[in-house]
Parts: sequence; structure tokens; C-alpha cells
Amino acid sequence: MIVEKQSEIDRNVRQSGIRGHMDQLSYGAFSADLHQRQSGQRAPMQVSIEVTRRCPLECQHCYNNLPMGDQDARSREMTTEEHFRMLDELVEMGCFWLLYTGGEIFARKDFLEIYTYAKKKGFLITLFTNGTLINEKIADYLLEWPPFSIEITLYGRTRETYEALTAVPGSYDRCLRGIKLLRERGLPLKLKTVATSINKHEVIAMRQFAEEELGVEFKFDGQVNPRIDCSQSPLAVRLTPEEVVALDMNAPKGVIEYQRLAKRDLENPPTLAKNDTVYFCGGGMNSFAINAYGEMGICVISQQDTFRVQEAGLKRVWEESLLQLRTRKRSQVTKCVQCRIQSLCGMCPANGEMENGDKESPVEFLCNVAHLRAAVIGVEVPAHGECEFCAGGNQHEDVLESARRIRSKEVDVESWVGPQQVFQILNNTSAATGGCGSCGGH
Ligand code: SF4
Ligand code: SF4
Repeated sequence: MIVEKQSEIDRNVRQSGIRGHMDQLSYGAFSADLHQRQSGQRAPMQVSIEVTRRCPLECQHCYNNLPMGDQDARSREMTTEEHFRMLDELVEMGCFWLLYTGGEIFARKDFLEIYTYAKKKGFLITLFTNGTLINEKIADYLLEWPPFSIEITLYGRTRETYEALTAVPGSYDRCLRGIKLLRERGLPLKLKTVATSINKHEVIAMRQFAEEELGVEFKFDGQVNPRIDCSQSPLAVRLTPEEVVALDMNAPKGVIEYQRLAKRDLENPPTLAKNDTVYFCGGGMNSFAINAYGEMGICVISQQDTFRVQEAGLKRVWEESLLQLRTRKRSQVTKCVQCRIQSLCGMCPANGEMENGDKESPVEFLCNVAHLRAAVIGVEVPAHGECEFCAGGNQHEDVLESARRIRSKEVDVESWVGPQQVFQILNNTSAATGGCGSCGGH
């Protein structure tokens, strides 16, 4: 994609000292160039702003949705003016990429006002939405003020599955309408899904819908987290490790990509061994998050330690509290430190704190998934401490058996059907239509 809206980014380009490059560069080259220039330096280039935790859907797997009518949540949210002030500060800090997420961003009546202010400040903005509140007016407005990217999460390829997960009748049609309105206007749409036990049988159909019918990018994630209020309820619809990996390997280039990642890991020293800090990612280094209540954290998932920004200001919190958090030393040597398959694994401090209440403590589910990915692609995992999924561990045989079942297609994602009650509905209603649509939420 060629970046045409030079005026939108002039301000940030100026601050980044790379003015002049944009005339010739594609966006990809520009982004890579900027990251290269900042590499090794701590600089806040990207920020995720959660505008609300309220959402019109009631998805079983969601980690942070609150009811639309939650007055306590509404009253704690940042005001429009606080958002404006924050955007002014982000400009001063040299921030470049902005992600607006929720909850559902359009649940806030003033969202377009906030968004417009951000657009006028020159940020490259990505929107995460479930799409169900997008109407003609919003779609027209986004056409006038286009985002850099807009991502809608599909919950199913059929109404029955979609609404089995969202628990809101009519949400499927509203989401399809949102997708249609954005597509009609040629906005930069991407679709994605979170695979759960409710919709796993429609992941392939969702991919086909996105890529073949709409011609837009699609991705899926098998990761379901506990809620940030510590409730474990979303785990009731989480896939098993075997199902996650079977879906991974069924994706186009799935096997090749995991082989590439594993090769790179095995050729290099363990990533975590090079660090002695709890956090080892870009969170707190080149990015951070602001939650709906005006608190800064490493990312939207890692919410155990957050810092109010209203009084001290963003810059000070970034330079003091968040720096302290980002440079906090590890307190223990876990099996992750010497692990050589880290790129196959989703374990990180945010997932540790959500699932175990401890940033450093390995999440067994993720460890299982990573070892199973390695086994399926034929990678022997080098010893990395006491690990029940490695050779000699009490789960090792189960990992090998699952890998065999996936490789031999005994676990065949293409033959999956939905939960019993969903399947019955499909049998006697609109299944004959092939189930059109999907839709999103995030
Ligand atoms: S989700 Fe994990 S890896 Fe990503 S920014 Fe948060 S702590 Fe870092
Ligand atoms: S959780 Fe397991 S697979 Fe993941 S990094 Fe830690 S040791 Fe490795």
C-alpha cells in the first residue's frame, strides 16, 4: 500500500526526523524504516486506547465486556475532553500508531468525536469493533475520515453459531450489515475470529467467507483468556490444546510458518535467557495501553499494574511508573527462561497474570499447545528444566499421541460439527442457505 495521506503524518514524521522519506516509500518500507531507527531505544510509537469496556454483545469467551447499561463503568470512563487532552500529549510524545479498542468502541456516543480529533492530529488509526453498531452514518463518516485499518471479529459463519456465542438475537444480521457497509465504501477492512468450542466448526467457512467472498485478510486465534476481573468463565468455551493445534496446522502455510519459527528459535540462544526482566516484549518499550478509566499499562491484556495518567500526565507516567514496571527484574527462574520454542508459545507476562495471577508463572495450557505444535512439525524440544510436556515428563506421551492424531487426520478440523444444540438448529432451519455471513466483535 502506498501512503498517500502525507499530510496526516507530517507531524509525526517531523518528530521522528524522517521527513522526506515518505514521498518515495511504501507504507511497509516506511514502517520498517521507522522501527529500525527506533530499535533498541525506548520510545512510545504505538498506543492502544480502550475507550470503554461496555459492549452490546455478551460473548462467553470475552475477557473484558461489561453490559451497555453498566452505569458504574460508564461513570468511570474518561470524558471526551480527557481523551482530547491525552491525544495532545501523545502528539508531544511522538506517538504514531493508535489502536482504538473496547469493549465496543461504538458503544460510546462520542466515539466519532474522539476519533476525528485523533485523525486531525495525524495518527495512523486502527479500529477494533464487533461491527454490530455500524450504520450508514458511521460508515459514511469513516469514508470521509478513513482509518488506517478496521478489524471486525466474526463469531460464526451462521446466525445460529454467531448468536450462540454472542447471546444476543439479531447481532448476526447487524454485524453482516456493518461488514457490508464498510465493504461498499472500500474501507480497509480485515476479519478475524477467536476459535472456541462453540464456533470451531465454522472457522474454515469464516476464512472462506473473508478471503474468497470478500477478498479481505482473515486471521484466527485459538487463545481464550480468563477475564481481567479474574473470572475463569471464558475458559468454559476454550478449545483443547489438540483442537488449537489442529486448526493451526490446517491454516494455509500453518506448518511451514511454525517450522520457520522453530528453526529460528533452535538456531539462536533462548530469548529469555538474554533478559533478566519480567517483560520481554515491545510492551512498555515501543508501545503501551490506556484503559477505559485513564490508566496506563503495558498492554490491554496486562492490567494487574496500571497507573493513573490524569494527574501526573502521560509523559511522566511513561517515563517513571511504566519504566519501573517494564524494567522490573524476574523473581524466579522458570522453565520458560531456557525454553527454545518460545516462538511457538503464547506465554507472556500478561497471560501469566490473567491465568495464574502471576506474570512469571508459565501457563500450562500454552505450554501444552507449544509442545504439541513442536511435536506435529517434528521438532524435538531441547531440555529446558522441569517440564511435564518434554521427554520424561508425565504429559509427554499425551503430547506425542495428540501429534500423531493431528498428523494422521484422526483429528480432522474439516469434519467438525457444532455443539449438539447448535447442530439441531442448523438441521432444521437455514443451514440450507449455507449460512451466510459472520460478523464481528472483538
Ligand atoms: S500481551 Fe504479552 S507479549 Fe503482548 S504486550 Fe502484553 S505482555 Fe507483552
Ligand atoms: S510456557 Fe512452556 S513452551 Fe511456553 S515458553 Fe514457557 S516453557 Fe516454553
